[in-house]
Amino acid sequence: MPYRPLRARIHLAAIRHNYRLAKQAASTAKALAVIKANAYGHGAVAVARALAPEADGFAVSCLEEALELRDSGIEAPILLLEGVFAPDELPLTARLDLTVVIHNRLQLAWVLGARPDRPLGCWIKLDTGMHRLGFAPEELPEVMASLEDCPHVRLQAAMTHFARADEPEHPYTAKQIAAFERALAGKRIASSLANSAALLSEPRAHGDWTRPGIMLYGASPFADPTRPLLGDLRLRPAMTLESALIAIKELAPGEPVGYGGRFVCTRPTRLGIAALGYADGYPRHAPDGTPIAVAGQLTRLIGRVSMDLLTLDLTDIAAQPGDRVELWGEQVSVGAVAAASGTIAYELLTGIGRRVPLIHE
Ligand SMILES: *Cc1c(COP(=O)(O)O)cnc(C)c1O
Repeated sequence: MPYRPLRARIHLAAIRHNYRLAKQAASTAKALAVIKANAYGHGAVAVARALAPEADGFAVSCLEEALELRDSGIEAPILLLEGVFAPDELPLTARLDLTVVIHNRLQLAWVLGARPDRPLGCWIKLDTGMHRLGFAPEELPEVMASLEDCPHVRLQAAMTHFARADEPEHPYTAKQIAAFERALAGKRIASSLANSAALLSEPRAHGDWTRPGIMLYGASPFADPTRPLLGDLRLRPAMTLESALIAIKELAPGEPVGYGGRFVCTRPTRLGIAALGYADGYPRHAPDGTPIAVAGQLTRLIGRVSMDLLTLDLTDIAAQPGDRVELWGEQVSVGAVAAASGTIAYELLTGIGRRVPLIHE
């Protein structure tokens, strides 16, 4: 057992529940569960094992992440979202039966020039407006033709990625969909467009394969995390980040709390000190007032977050040393902590510190 009371409890049943909702929300499409970045901090192998009986496949960002899954016995299709970074990765990629994204000419030349032992599954990525990775839509016919002519390639799908799907009313997503549809018109190739936000807000983007990530972990994909998701659909938070109160003190009005004295008591204050800080992944930018739950009661952060500790207001609630403190989870949404701190749930979940034990349950 860890010595500090800090841990991240990972609810695998919640992830399975959320994956099923992703499948239901886009019922004509298959869904690649995106488990890059250690499944957004939740433990990629445990998440993949939990989803393996029902997932259509997985997506990760690089060969190392896929290798970890194959080493743990995951046999489902795995897509490398950025493809390979050098041609010498291709033999192992083919041997592990991974599917690569091809997003530029360099990767295309590597794939065409490779001599893998087994056929290599490929997706073509189109840049419809994100302007990060991908071929221009006009290049699709030529890229497709060269891959179709290549005996060691199995061309499987064309994909694109949205820049503003987290703002569901924004017209830019419709422009991207239109550009993608124009490029694919009349072509016999499967399509993949939707991340979580598009999956939940843009039926025209469902295509043949969706790519849900953040929604699997129970956080809203929308820029406004209070926005309703889709009908009465409810995601279940998959991570509870918790620690315990290790000290309590009484402070008089006028006393400052913590580094820089950012918070100054305006009334007689009971201060709680919890064993968790920014080195564990809690945002140092969290302002006074950020929600925190203690023994099931909602209260607020006061004072600047330090490396190993943070301080909270116990004045109006009942609490004693040893009580459980929830930083995010079922009572406090990770989206609310992120919004208060000027960031997004993705950054907090993927930023869980190395010394936080993940407890899968
Ligand atoms: C990370 C990623 C996703 C998943 O996005 P979410 O917003 O987490 O659902 C989908 N597609 C690509 C290309 C990605 O890189």
